[in-house]
Amino acid sequence: MDSVEDKESRLENLLKLVRSCHECELGKTRANPVFGFGSSSAKIMFVGEAPGYHEDQQGIPFVGRAGKLLDQLLERIGLDRSQVYIANVLKCRPPDNRDPLVDEISRCRTYLERQISIIEPEAICTLGNFATKLLTGKPDGISRVHGRPQPCPGFEKTFIYPVYHPAAALYTPSNLRALEHDFDHLPELLSSNTQSQVEPLTSTSDPVVETPEGQADPEQMGLF
Ligand code: URA
Repeated sequence: MDSVEDKESRLENLLKLVRSCHECELGKTRANPVFGFGSSSAKIMFVGEAPGYHEDQQGIPFVGRAGKLLDQLLERIGLDRSQVYIANVLKCRPPDNRDPLVDEISRCRTYLERQISIIEPEAICTLGNFATKLLTGKPDGISRVHGRPQPCPGFEKTFIYPVYHPAAALYTPSNLRALEHDFDHLPELLSSNTQSQVEPLTSTSDPVVETPEGQADPEQMGLF
C-alpha cells in the first residue's frame, strides 16, 4: 500500500489530467471539473452520479441540497467529509443536469477507477443507479440492491455498498428512511469481516453502460 504522500501525489497528477480533459463534449460546457474531495487514505468512498450546477461552479462534489443531506448522513454515523472520499461517475456537469450518456460514462470511468486504485478504500458506497451499475458491472436497480454489500470487480479488497442517491431521498420520504437505515449499518459492516457478508446477486437486465440513452431507470430521473 502507498504512503499518504504517494497517494496524494498520485491524486494530484490525476487531477491535472482531469483539468485538461476534453475526451467528451462536457469539457466544452463545464465551468470546472469536479474531481473529488476528502482523504486520500479514506476507508470509505462515496460515488455519486455527476456534478450539478453548484458543484460545477465550485469544483467540489455534493455542495448543493443533496450534499447537505449527505453531510447529515455522515454526521449520523460520526463522520465528516474530511474522513471519507467523495467522487462522481462523471467529472463534468451534463448540461441542464440531464442523465450521463453511455459514451460519457465509458470515457470518464478511467478517472474514477484510478481514484479507487489509489485510495484503496475498504468500502465504496455507490449513491444511486449510475454509480451502482457502473461499479458492480450489473444491471440491478438501486431499489433492489440498496443496503446489500457486493463485490467490486477489479478491486478485490473493496466491497460495494449501494444506497439511494441523496437527491432521490430529498423528494421521497420512503427513500430517505431507506437511506438512513442503510447508513446506520455502514459502521458495523466496516468493523466486521465484510468480505464474508458480500454476496454476488443474480442480475435481471442490462448494465447501465449498455443501456441505450434515455432508458435510465425511472427512479433515477430528476435527481438534481
Ligand atoms: N449529485 C451528484 O451525483 N453528485 C454531485 O456532486 C452532486 C449532486
